[in-house]
Amino acid sequence: IDEIDGNFVRSVRNCIFSKSIPTPLKGPLRLAAVSKDAIEKILNLDVAVTQSEDFLLYASGTKVLPGSVPIAHRYGGHQFGYWAGQLGDGRAHLLGQYLNRKGETWELQLKGSGKTPYSRSGDGRAVIRSSVREFLCSEAMYFLGVPTSRAVSLIVSEEPVLRDPFYNGKLKTERGAVVLRLAKSWFRIGSLEILAESGEIDLLRKLLNFIIKEHFSFIGPDDPEKYLVFYSRVVNETAHLIAQWISVGFAHGVCNTDNFSLLSITIDYGPFGFMESYDPNFVPNTSDDEGRYRIGNQAEVGLFNLEKLLVALSPVLTQQQQKQAKIALKGFVDIYQMRIHQLFKAKLGLLGEEEDDNYLIAFLLKMMEDTGSDFTMTFRQLSEVSANQLRSRDFSDIWAIADLSSHKLFSDWINTYLMRISRQQSDLDRQNRMKSVNPRYVLRNWMAESAIRKAEMNDFSEVEQLLRVLSSPFVTQVAAEEAGYAARPPRWADSLKVSCSS
Ligand code: AMP
Ligand code: MG
Ligand code: MG
Repeated sequence: IDEIDGNFVRSVRNCIFSKSIPTPLKGPLRLAAVSKDAIEKILNLDVAVTQSEDFLLYASGTKVLPGSVPIAHRYGGHQFGYWAGQLGDGRAHLLGQYLNRKGETWELQLKGSGKTPYSRSGDGRAVIRSSVREFLCSEAMYFLGVPTSRAVSLIVSEEPVLRDPFYNGKLKTERGAVVLRLAKSWFRIGSLEILAESGEIDLLRKLLNFIIKEHFSFIGPDDPEKYLVFYSRVVNETAHLIAQWISVGFAHGVCNTDNFSLLSITIDYGPFGFMESYDPNFVPNTSDDEGRYRIGNQAEVGLFNLEKLLVALSPVLTQQQQKQAKIALKGFVDIYQMRIHQLFKAKLGLLGEEEDDNYLIAFLLKMMEDTGSDFTMTFRQLSEVSANQLRSRDFSDIWAIADLSSHKLFSDWINTYLMRISRQQSDLDRQNRMKSVNPRYVLRNWMAESAIRKAEMNDFSEVEQLLRVLSSPFVTQVAAEEAGYAARPPRWADSLKVSCSS
């Protein structure tokens, strides 16, 4: 830990963290939302504690928990393909580790809690808009079964924060908010990169040993191959994570190495998006002009990021181990494709393995691309419809499949699919399996936007409703249906944009 005090911006060396006290936000503070699941199941607290004044003060960074030494993490990263130097927690404070009843340790972190030595030209704040999105999406991803950081609470303030939400040179005054978030670890690829780049190899080794001891305990501390084994595990898990993103139509938006977790969980929710009309070129972030982080390029980018991780590890690997690490990296594509194949087979309810399964999947995706059918609802409606209904070609009340059915090869595909599923157990069993992996509700931009507009006026009812609905994304819910969450997105949503401004 860097011992220099004060949150003034500086270049920091020979440390992993800097002490940094959060800067309180202008009140009154309001508790906008809490995740009951995170509070009860991770922190093992009664959700009633969040109603106390103390909770509001601790979870907003106004007061420091007794015994906590808030710190900001020093990391670097490759941003949009280029080495960006020192980045670090510019608006986040790590409050400490929390040991829960299961014996798990979770790191409590505030985001939006003020300047740190790593704030560069930023103000250390996060606005309501992006905080609502991070709060809801972390929880939504968890309930979708995708590895992710979690969110405990969302607190809004009266602190004015200036932003250019659409990157068009027009500044707008918004309000500051703080999310209390949790992860077993917040270390990123960039956490190691900065040490290797600055030639701080002893510290690099020390951090690696710490991460391995805390989070990769299956690797022995005296194993001479430990860094190689660590690397292979990260390659493997990252391939799995990105495959899971694709399987729910999630595009992260900013896949820089500083936003790629070493535990291969989804972190740093910014201009992410759930793909609606199926399109491998879907780019959620309007600031990403070249579409580097388009949904269909995420595996490619994962590979790029893992290459950068290997560069960072090279100083602690022998020549022989570097060769082996390169072989492990080459395995990424196969692991990813194998996982994608499994996930999409499950999405189509296919049991066992048949020769044409890949073809069946690719054929469907191609038709979805040609017709622009809705990614989430096409798979969901294929789960809900019976084989008989498919056979009868009655798509009157299933809008996404109705869209898809305009494709000239649709009938051919249905016939192939019906043949394939006729060779397995009951159709009901297929529907149930499919319904448990194909969500009916994801956090579409328009849903988040609608909740944000109300939250900005201190009405948090829709944030609450979305959290409730997205906590059971595979279960049809009356309130969600009434709100149109499984319906065709409203026309006004077409013009919605999200950018890096947050
Ligand atoms: P991101 O692209 O959101 O992952 O952020 C990249 C870097 O910018 C990280 O080091 C963040 O901590 C930092 N950053 C983003 N927004 C702010 C802000 N408002 N104030 C200070 N630092 C920020
Ligand atoms: Mg980040
Ligand atoms: Mg961010």
